[in-house]
Amino acid sequence: MVLSFDVDAESPMPYRLPDTWLDGLGEFEQRTYGPRRSVPRILNLLTRKGIAGTFYIPAYTLRRYPEMAVSIAAAGHEIGCHGDIHELVDRLSAAEEEAVLVRSIAAITAITGHPPTGYRSPSWELHRRSPALLRRHGLLYDSSLMGDDRPYLVATPDGALAELPIQWLLDDAVYYRATQPASTPRYLDHPAQVAETWIAEFDGLADENGCFILTMHPWISGRPSRIAALERVIDHIQARDDVWWTTCADLARHALAHASEIEYTLDPTALPRADAGETQHARG
Ligand SMILES: [Zn+2]
Repeated sequence: MVLSFDVDAESPMPYRLPDTWLDGLGEFEQRTYGPRRSVPRILNLLTRKGIAGTFYIPAYTLRRYPEMAVSIAAAGHEIGCHGDIHELVDRLSAAEEEAVLVRSIAAITAITGHPPTGYRSPSWELHRRSPALLRRHGLLYDSSLMGDDRPYLVATPDGALAELPIQWLLDDAVYYRATQPASTPRYLDHPAQVAETWIAEFDGLADENGCFILTMHPWISGRPSRIAALERVIDHIQARDDVWWTTCADLARHALAHASEIEYTLDPTALPRADAGETQHARG
């Protein structure tokens, strides 16, 4: 059981809108609400509940909000890599991807005093070369893929990378995220419904000894009603005495220490090729 927070703030804007991102104030201000108001609210909740969480913070956000990052680290939470300006790694060259990772690791090390243990890709996309790059730079895990509902392994030339699976179902953005031009997320004003969905998924995973990793974005989930819904989920889970509350770093260390018991290993170098036969099969 892990509570994870992707502290994007406005970091995706210079990547998505390189020439115009500072022209408008609307989405910019909406996103700065995360570091300003939501993160303190989230830290308060985690302290009250006695929970250590994992925060993935882009290097841009670390540079712009260093006091916020220090407050997260000082409260005992893990900080992991999440790009610099939220770059989509499958659209970067190999050299660009590596340069971004090096900047990200350095920015986190400057805040916490030690290199990060793990990585979550911006927007949950990975290039097939990414796992080897992460392992080569000393990271123990990635948390960006959905191939199972318990930790699995990704083979790299430098040894296995732990994969800690996420899911759109267990993300806040699909329920709440609204920016201009106006969109209408299904549960914009029904956080209780979101809590019900997460609790139902938790109960199902718990019955199968699965792994529940919740992903939230402070600029989206930091509103009082949504924090209250998250607290309801926490209370439901804390009522059980057979749940391991942990960080992604400790979950990854546990998975790698018990690697021989893990059923599934992804080998990115051994994926099917789109040759004629397989293409025809896929169409069928
Ligand atoms: Zn993100």
